[in-house]
Amino acid sequence: MNDPYINITENVKHVLDEISAAADLCGRDPSEITLVAASKMNPAETVRLSAAAGISVFGENRVQEMLEKNALGAYAGCDLHFIGHLQKNKVKNVVGLASLIHGIDSLSLLETVSRIAESKNMIQDVLLEINIGAEETKSGFSPSEISDILDSAQALKGIKVRGLMAIPPICEKPEENHPFFARMQQLFIDIGAKKYDNSSMDFLSMGMSRDYTEAIKCGSNMVRVGTAIFGPRNYSK
Ligand SMILES: *Cc1c(COP(=O)(O)O)cnc(C)c1O
Repeated sequence: MNDPYINITENVKHVLDEISAAADLCGRDPSEITLVAASKMNPAETVRLSAAAGISVFGENRVQEMLEKNALGAYAGCDLHFIGHLQKNKVKNVVGLASLIHGIDSLSLLETVSRIAESKNMIQDVLLEINIGAEETKSGFSPSEISDILDSAQALKGIKVRGLMAIPPICEKPEENHPFFARMQQLFIDIGAKKYDNSSMDFLSMGMSRDYTEAIKCGSNMVRVGTAIFGPRNYSK
Protein backbone atom coordinates (compact mmCIF):
# COMPACT_ATOMS: atom_id res chain seq x y z
CA MET A 1 0.00 0.00 0.00
CA ASN A 2 1.22 3.44 -0.70
CA ASP A 3 1.40 6.01 2.03
CA PRO A 4 -1.81 8.07 2.04
CA TYR A 5 0.21 11.12 3.10
CA ILE A 6 2.17 11.04 -0.11
CA ASN A 7 0.42 12.89 -2.87
CA ILE A 8 1.82 11.40 -6.04
CA THR A 9 -0.11 13.72 -8.32
CA GLU A 10 1.39 16.74 -6.58
CA ASN A 11 4.85 15.21 -6.52
CA VAL A 12 4.80 14.45 -10.25
CA LYS A 13 3.69 17.99 -10.99
CA HIS A 14 6.44 19.38 -8.76
CA VAL A 15 9.16 17.29 -10.43
CA LEU A 16 7.95 18.21 -13.93
CA ASP A 17 7.91 21.89 -12.91
CA GLU A 18 11.46 21.64 -11.55
CA ILE A 19 12.61 19.96 -14.77
CA SER A 20 11.05 22.77 -16.82
CA ALA A 21 12.63 25.43 -14.63
CA ALA A 22 16.08 23.83 -14.84
CA ALA A 23 15.76 23.47 -18.61
CA ASP A 24 14.65 27.11 -18.95
CA LEU A 25 17.63 28.26 -16.89
CA CYS A 26 20.03 26.84 -19.43
CA GLY A 27 17.97 27.66 -22.49
CA ARG A 28 16.96 24.08 -23.20
CA ASP A 29 13.60 22.74 -24.29
CA PRO A 30 12.01 20.87 -21.33
CA SER A 31 10.38 18.44 -23.75
CA GLU A 32 13.79 17.02 -24.66
CA ILE A 33 14.27 15.80 -21.07
CA THR A 34 12.81 12.41 -20.23
CA LEU A 35 11.61 11.79 -16.71
CA VAL A 36 12.05 8.14 -15.78
CA ALA A 37 10.09 7.33 -12.63
CA ALA A 38 12.22 4.93 -10.59
CA SER A 39 9.39 2.82 -9.23
CA LYS A 40 11.30 0.11 -7.37
CA MET A 41 9.56 -1.19 -4.25
CA ASN A 42 6.34 0.56 -5.18
CA PRO A 43 3.42 -1.75 -5.98
CA ALA A 44 1.65 -1.98 -9.33
CA GLU A 45 -1.22 0.07 -8.00
CA THR A 46 1.09 2.98 -7.10
CA VAL A 47 2.75 2.73 -10.50
CA ARG A 48 -0.65 3.04 -12.19
CA LEU A 49 -1.50 6.01 -9.98
CA SER A 50 1.64 7.83 -11.06
CA ALA A 51 0.92 7.06 -14.73
CA ALA A 52 -2.47 8.69 -14.29
CA ALA A 53 -0.62 11.69 -12.80
CA GLY A 54 1.51 12.13 -15.91
CA ILE A 55 4.39 9.64 -15.75
CA SER A 56 4.99 7.88 -19.05
CA VAL A 57 8.32 6.14 -18.47
CA PHE A 58 9.16 3.79 -15.61
CA GLY A 59 12.54 2.44 -14.55
CA GLU A 60 12.85 -0.77 -12.57
CA ASN A 61 15.87 -2.22 -10.79
CA ARG A 62 14.96 -5.78 -10.08
CA VAL A 63 14.00 -8.22 -12.81
CA GLN A 64 11.66 -10.33 -10.69
CA GLU A 65 9.79 -7.31 -9.38
CA MET A 66 9.52 -5.87 -12.88
CA LEU A 67 8.08 -9.13 -14.25
CA GLU A 68 5.55 -9.37 -11.44
CA LYS A 69 4.36 -5.79 -11.81
CA ASN A 70 4.29 -6.10 -15.58
CA ALA A 71 2.08 -9.19 -15.27
CA LEU A 72 -0.31 -7.02 -13.25
CA GLY A 73 -0.43 -4.50 -16.09
CA ALA A 74 1.37 -1.81 -14.08
CA TYR A 75 3.12 -0.24 -17.09
CA ALA A 76 0.27 -0.46 -19.59
CA GLY A 77 0.60 2.26 -22.21
CA CYS A 78 3.94 3.42 -20.78
CA ASP A 79 7.57 2.87 -21.62
CA LEU A 80 9.61 0.61 -19.38
CA HIS A 81 13.36 0.90 -18.75
CA PHE A 82 15.64 -1.38 -16.78
CA ILE A 83 17.94 0.77 -14.63
CA GLY A 84 19.45 -1.76 -12.21
CA HIS A 85 22.43 -4.05 -12.24
CA LEU A 86 21.60 -6.76 -14.78
CA GLN A 87 22.77 -10.32 -14.20
CA LYS A 88 23.55 -12.34 -17.30
CA ASN A 89 21.14 -15.14 -16.43
CA LYS A 90 18.28 -12.64 -16.37
CA VAL A 91 19.01 -10.90 -19.65
CA LYS A 92 16.47 -13.05 -21.51
CA ASN A 93 13.68 -11.68 -19.28
CA VAL A 94 14.59 -8.05 -19.88
CA VAL A 95 15.46 -7.91 -23.58
CA GLY A 96 12.39 -6.85 -25.51
CA LEU A 97 10.41 -5.98 -22.38
CA ALA A 98 12.50 -2.95 -21.43
CA SER A 99 12.80 -0.47 -24.29
CA LEU A 100 16.08 0.77 -22.82
CA ILE A 101 18.62 -0.98 -20.55
CA HIS A 102 20.63 1.68 -18.68
CA GLY A 103 23.33 -0.14 -16.78
CA ILE A 104 25.52 -2.05 -19.23
CA ASP A 105 28.76 -2.37 -17.28
CA SER A 106 30.84 -4.98 -19.11
CA LEU A 107 31.56 -6.04 -22.66
CA SER A 108 30.43 -9.57 -21.90
CA LEU A 109 27.04 -8.30 -20.67
CA LEU A 110 26.73 -6.24 -23.86
CA GLU A 111 27.54 -9.35 -25.92
CA THR A 112 24.95 -11.39 -24.02
CA VAL A 113 22.26 -8.76 -24.56
CA SER A 114 23.12 -8.64 -28.26
CA ARG A 115 23.01 -12.41 -28.66
CA ILE A 116 19.64 -12.72 -26.95
CA ALA A 117 18.18 -9.78 -28.85
CA GLU A 118 19.34 -11.37 -32.11
CA SER A 119 17.65 -14.63 -31.14
CA LYS A 120 14.45 -12.61 -30.69
CA ASN A 121 14.98 -10.89 -34.05
CA MET A 122 15.24 -7.47 -32.51
CA ILE A 123 17.68 -4.71 -31.66
CA GLN A 124 17.90 -3.76 -27.99
CA ASP A 125 18.68 -0.14 -27.05
CA VAL A 126 21.19 0.19 -24.23
CA LEU A 127 23.20 2.78 -22.30
CA LEU A 128 26.75 2.23 -21.08
CA GLU A 129 27.25 2.85 -17.39
CA ILE A 130 30.23 5.01 -16.49
CA ASN A 131 31.83 4.76 -13.07
CA ILE A 132 32.48 8.49 -13.10
CA GLY A 133 33.66 8.69 -9.49
CA ALA A 134 36.06 5.75 -10.02
CA GLU A 135 34.49 4.12 -6.98
CA GLU A 136 35.62 0.61 -6.12
CA THR A 137 32.17 -0.34 -4.88
CA LYS A 138 30.47 0.65 -8.14
CA SER A 139 30.33 -1.10 -11.45
CA GLY A 140 30.63 0.63 -14.80
CA PHE A 141 33.30 1.48 -17.32
CA SER A 142 36.01 4.01 -16.78
CA PRO A 143 35.86 6.90 -19.27
CA SER A 144 39.11 5.70 -20.91
CA GLU A 145 37.54 2.32 -21.78
CA ILE A 146 34.59 3.69 -23.70
CA SER A 147 36.11 4.03 -27.15
CA ASP A 148 37.27 0.39 -27.06
CA ILE A 149 33.83 -0.75 -25.98
CA LEU A 150 32.12 1.22 -28.74
CA ASP A 151 34.63 -0.22 -31.17
CA SER A 152 33.72 -3.77 -30.09
CA ALA A 153 30.02 -2.90 -30.18
CA GLN A 154 30.29 -2.28 -33.92
CA ALA A 155 30.28 -6.04 -34.47
CA LEU A 156 27.24 -6.67 -32.26
CA LYS A 157 24.10 -6.88 -34.40
CA GLY A 158 21.55 -7.14 -31.60
CA ILE A 159 22.22 -3.88 -29.77
CA LYS A 160 22.30 -0.17 -30.30
CA VAL A 161 24.20 1.97 -27.81
CA ARG A 162 22.03 5.05 -27.32
CA GLY A 163 24.12 6.90 -24.77
CA LEU A 164 25.65 6.93 -21.30
CA MET A 165 24.43 6.58 -17.75
CA ALA A 166 26.10 7.48 -14.46
CA ILE A 167 25.47 7.52 -10.74
CA PRO A 168 27.98 9.89 -9.14
CA PRO A 169 29.32 9.29 -5.62
CA ILE A 170 27.02 10.14 -2.73
CA CYS A 171 27.82 13.70 -1.67
CA GLU A 172 26.71 15.80 1.29
CA LYS A 173 25.21 18.46 -0.91
CA PRO A 174 23.81 18.03 -4.42
CA GLU A 175 26.11 20.78 -5.80
CA GLU A 176 29.11 18.64 -4.92
CA ASN A 177 28.12 16.34 -7.75
CA HIS A 178 28.67 19.12 -10.24
CA PRO A 179 32.24 18.10 -11.21
CA PHE A 180 31.10 14.53 -11.90
CA PHE A 181 28.14 15.65 -13.97
CA ALA A 182 30.33 18.12 -15.84
CA ARG A 183 32.85 15.35 -16.61
CA MET A 184 30.02 13.16 -17.93
CA GLN A 185 28.79 15.98 -20.12
CA GLN A 186 32.23 16.40 -21.66
CA LEU A 187 32.61 12.65 -22.20
CA PHE A 188 29.19 12.52 -23.86
CA ILE A 189 30.14 15.37 -26.20
CA ASP A 190 33.57 13.91 -27.03
CA ILE A 191 32.19 10.46 -27.80
CA GLY A 192 29.25 11.89 -29.72
CA ALA A 193 31.70 13.60 -32.07
CA LYS A 194 33.08 10.22 -33.19
CA LYS A 195 31.20 7.82 -35.42
CA TYR A 196 30.70 4.18 -34.55
CA ASP A 197 28.36 1.62 -36.09
CA ASN A 198 25.55 0.58 -33.71
CA SER A 199 26.03 3.65 -31.53
CA SER A 200 24.50 7.08 -31.36
CA MET A 201 24.87 9.33 -28.37
CA ASP A 202 21.24 10.34 -27.86
CA PHE A 203 20.73 9.97 -24.12
CA LEU A 204 22.71 11.12 -21.13
CA SER A 205 21.05 9.46 -18.16
CA MET A 206 22.04 11.13 -14.90
CA GLY A 207 20.36 12.84 -11.98
CA MET A 208 18.20 11.39 -9.19
CA SER A 209 15.84 12.91 -6.61
CA ARG A 210 18.53 14.91 -4.83
CA ASP A 211 20.33 16.26 -7.83
CA TYR A 212 18.31 16.06 -11.05
CA THR A 213 18.20 19.83 -11.55
CA GLU A 214 21.99 19.97 -11.13
CA ALA A 215 22.32 17.13 -13.69
CA ILE A 216 20.07 18.92 -16.19
CA LYS A 217 22.30 21.98 -15.96
CA CYS A 218 25.14 19.68 -17.08
CA GLY A 219 23.29 18.38 -20.11
CA SER A 220 21.40 15.42 -18.73
CA ASN A 221 18.40 14.60 -20.90
CA MET A 222 17.18 11.62 -18.88
CA VAL A 223 16.66 11.84 -15.13
CA ARG A 224 15.76 8.88 -12.92
CA VAL A 225 13.65 10.04 -10.04
CA GLY A 226 12.16 7.82 -7.32
CA THR A 227 11.83 9.34 -3.85
CA ALA A 228 10.71 12.77 -5.04
CA ILE A 229 7.74 11.10 -6.74
CA PHE A 230 6.89 8.12 -4.54
CA GLY A 231 8.22 9.21 -1.16
CA PRO A 232 10.89 7.35 0.84
CA ARG A 233 11.21 3.64 0.17
CA ASN A 234 10.50 1.36 3.07
CA TYR A 235 13.31 -1.19 3.04
CA SER A 236 12.07 -2.94 6.16
CA LYS A 237 8.83 -4.21 4.63
C1 LIG B 1 16.46 4.08 -7.13
C2 LIG B 1 17.22 4.60 -8.27
C3 LIG B 1 17.04 5.91 -8.70
C4 LIG B 1 16.14 6.91 -8.00
O1 LIG B 1 16.65 7.24 -6.76
P1 LIG B 1 15.95 8.39 -5.86
O2 LIG B 1 17.06 8.91 -5.04
O3 LIG B 1 14.91 7.69 -5.07
O4 LIG B 1 15.40 9.37 -6.80
C5 LIG B 1 17.75 6.33 -9.81
N1 LIG B 1 18.60 5.51 -10.48
C6 LIG B 1 18.80 4.25 -10.09
C7 LIG B 1 19.74 3.41 -10.85
C8 LIG B 1 18.13 3.76 -8.98
O5 LIG B 1 18.36 2.52 -8.58
